[in-house]
Amino acid sequence: MSELHYELDLLTAMNQKLAGNERMYRMICGMSSSAFIYYNFNENRIEVLGCFQKFFHFQIRSLMDLSHIFASVMDEFENNLRGVFFGEEKGLENASCECCLQDGKTWMQFEVNITYDENKKPIEKVIRIKDITKRRKQNEELKYMAYYDTLTGLYNRNYFVRVLSEWLRRAEAEHAVVAVMCIDIDDFKKINDGLGMIAGDEMIQSFGLFLKAEFKNENTIIAHVNNDLFYMAIYEPVGHRSVDSIYNTIREKLKEPFVLSSSLSLKITVCVGVAEYPEASKNILELMNCAEIVMFKAKASGKDSIQYFETPILEDFRENVQLENKLKDALSENRFELYYQPQFDSKTKHLRGVEALLRWKDDSGKMISPGVFIPIAEQSGMIVPIGTWVLEEGISRFSKWKEKYNKDLVISLNISAIQYKRPEFVYNLLNILKKYNVNPCEVELEITESVLIEDFESVLEKLHVLKEYGIKISLDDFGTGFSSLSYLKGLPIDTLKIDKSFIDTVISDDSTRVITESIVSMVKKLGCETVAEGVETEEQYEYLKEIDCDNIQGFLLGRPMPANEIEKIIANSLSLL
Ligand code: C2E
Ligand code: CA
Ligand code: CA
Repeated sequence: MSELHYELDLLTAMNQKLAGNERMYRMICGMSSSAFIYYNFNENRIEVLGCFQKFFHFQIRSLMDLSHIFASVMDEFENNLRGVFFGEEKGLENASCECCLQDGKTWMQFEVNITYDENKKPIEKVIRIKDITKRRKQNEELKYMAYYDTLTGLYNRNYFVRVLSEWLRRAEAEHAVVAVMCIDIDDFKKINDGLGMIAGDEMIQSFGLFLKAEFKNENTIIAHVNNDLFYMAIYEPVGHRSVDSIYNTIREKLKEPFVLSSSLSLKITVCVGVAEYPEASKNILELMNCAEIVMFKAKASGKDSIQYFETPILEDFRENVQLENKLKDALSENRFELYYQPQFDSKTKHLRGVEALLRWKDDSGKMISPGVFIPIAEQSGMIVPIGTWVLEEGISRFSKWKEKYNKDLVISLNISAIQYKRPEFVYNLLNILKKYNVNPCEVELEITESVLIEDFESVLEKLHVLKEYGIKISLDDFGTGFSSLSYLKGLPIDTLKIDKSFIDTVISDDSTRVITESIVSMVKKLGCETVAEGVETEEQYEYLKEIDCDNIQGFLLGRPMPANEIEKIIANSLSLL
């Protein structure tokens, strides 16, 4: 009897413990943010715990009811989900999947855990269901930030490179072509500087939106890479035709101005560089680089244009990069030198002054002409420190000659447009003059029309400032640009240099003679001095003297020469007086 009692007590105690455990599990599951489906294979018992009711508005009482869950996810996820729910069919212990519900917004994670007996027969399984919408959204945002450009909503460089690398792999297998277009807005800096960054950003945004709306399709990807630079890739374009037609559509659109929120309307043009896989390169970054290089080529040969990849463009570019590096070394290793070419009064043959001309002695001691390296120095911005060196070297040398020979002379210095545009240019020049105690009226700055073309108003203002300090301004290479005599009237210039191309044909060609004569007489009326450049023959000299051209510079009377040689000419000129 007591044994029976004992067993009863034990059973009651066990029951109580089991009930306690069950309460505990239910409490824990109730507090969890997940839902659980428990299934016992032997008993064919299914139970639902946790916040199942919060997620789904139906009950699960038997295995049949699971079909409601499969119906609640979007079709494309259903197969995966069934695989997770019935993992035992494949002998899995764990499996999981993420599915989007039919509302298109809610994401759920389903995870199964199955236990087996020693004969590998499943005993029970638990499926945990978790709402992962928030995590997915955060991931999406991170992905967005990682792949998209926040200003335009277009892809960013990273994503572009990623897709392009996939495309190139595919193109290799399919023997297809991929065209990469690099699109850059012309003079964007002017918009940004002139109208402010907000207007600049708006412009970029509008242009980006247009590209997206116009060209979005599965064979095209568009990215905003930085500033005003966009990239576009086209899988399997039909020859140049598809790229041309994209370019023409862009140009057509750009005929209309963009209207900004400030109701300002703005017209822009773009330059486009195109490089194709596999012709230009098989490497993604190189291919993008080629497109950018030829885009710069399009910029250099005039704005509002397109340039397709050609091997020589790349070779030139590489050579220029090498030269640019050498220029940097030359500056730090002091391998530049100034030569000086004398200018003489045509009537008296007295020395008027000297023009400083830059020379570069390369590693082998060979002199490299400025015609080769100045354009590269200008492109790379190296002209600014080089130009400062020229000013300092020329003016300090000139100051020594003045001290030694005390002769009235002018030193002419060539100033490139880039140097001239720098806000600190006038200040630096005045400082150098002060440092070497040189009178500003003995210094003549030679500028070309390119200085005037870009920003006439601000250049004019600077010219007036220079003039106020007494510095002379000379217009170089007259006759090679648009050279209209009428605009000369408005310019505060002191000297006009007639370009060598006129002097070359002045004897043989009647019309050149007529033009040269009218230039000289007109310039005289304006109160300016004239200098004829590149005078090589006695005949040219005699003719120029006759038509009253004031000064002569050229190989006939003196080539550009090192400082010690020109010093002899300066010393000589004193004895001639
Ligand atoms: P530029 O200012 O027109 O200089 C005159 C050029 O004509 C010089 O070439 C000179 O050597 C050359 N020349 C002078 N007389 C004759 C002649 O009778 N016959 C021939 N065939 N040529 C003559 P260079 O020294 O090679 O300079 C070329 C250009 O490089 C210059 O043309 C100038 O635009 C630029 N340059 C030279 N030095 C500097 C500099 O310090 N700064 C800047 N920004 N440019 C410079
Ligand atoms: Ca010159
Ligand atoms: Ca010249």
